[in-house]
Amino acid sequence: MSAIDGLPPLREVIASHGLSAKKSLGQNFLLDLNLTAKIARQAGDLSGMDVLEIGPGPGGLTRGLLAEGARRVLAIEKDERCLPALAEIGAAWPGRLEVISGDALEIDPLAHLTPPIAICANLPYNVGTELLVRWLTPDIWPPFWQSLTLMFQREVAERIVAAPGSKAYGRLAVLAQWRAEARIVLSLPPGAFTPPPKVASAVVHLKALPEPRFPADRKVLERVVAAAFNQRRKMLRAALKGLAPDIEDRLRAAGIEPTERAEQLSLEQFCALARELA
Ligand code: SAM
Repeated sequence: MSAIDGLPPLREVIASHGLSAKKSLGQNFLLDLNLTAKIARQAGDLSGMDVLEIGPGPGGLTRGLLAEGARRVLAIEKDERCLPALAEIGAAWPGRLEVISGDALEIDPLAHLTPPIAICANLPYNVGTELLVRWLTPDIWPPFWQSLTLMFQREVAERIVAAPGSKAYGRLAVLAQWRAEARIVLSLPPGAFTPPPKVASAVVHLKALPEPRFPADRKVLERVVAAAFNQRRKMLRAALKGLAPDIEDRLRAAGIEPTERAEQLSLEQFCALARELA
């Protein structure tokens, strides 16, 4: 396709830099620049914002983010083979792209970013959930980012936006919805990627709320939610008995029947229980 930035089509970039996809790095590339621009638009108005991108690969989404007006993009990529292709994008957008070569799980990007900050990424599946949980669980809220626009396997996306009572409801839903507004904004079939993954994907947009929906200590809430969903088929009085000797009383004090199960509890009830156990 004719490029939005005067750079070669992504198929050419991949061929000329020998970027055969590596499964171990979760490499499923997006090669359609119309699609990457559409994903970038889901992040909202990027003008005046720094954007953190994890795993730019050959740079399809990076190009979308720059073309959609991001003030600066900071891209962290583990696969050194991608660096020359990313350098070409940097040359086409002088002063607007910084690339850090390394593992996103080990690099603190904050020193390289100026607020306001958005995060947008077609995440490597093997580290996507871990990064999301880190971004959702800082001690201080609001976090360093204003929004997250992230590609996940469809099944993970559904777990993030799940409502109580549904099978997908669990730790991710509670952590995400406690302090952010989360919705699925785009669904993509496997064929949108090269090579196509086995499952469908979806883009989730999370907007950080100015403060949590209900008060609770973050660490206590995480403990309660982890224990409750670790044994999601058990009644709460059994699943949570390790958290307090008088757990039945604590559950009742929080307005929860001890015979209920985790997947029936609303966010408000989880927070009430966390306050009771703090
Ligand atoms: N953003 C590109 C796109 O949309 O076509 C590539 C997406 S691909 C699903 C995931 C990318 O993350 C790959 O480029 C891979 O090398 C990179 N990656 C995998 N693990 C990583 C890690 N721990 N830190 C940084 N990048 C990583």
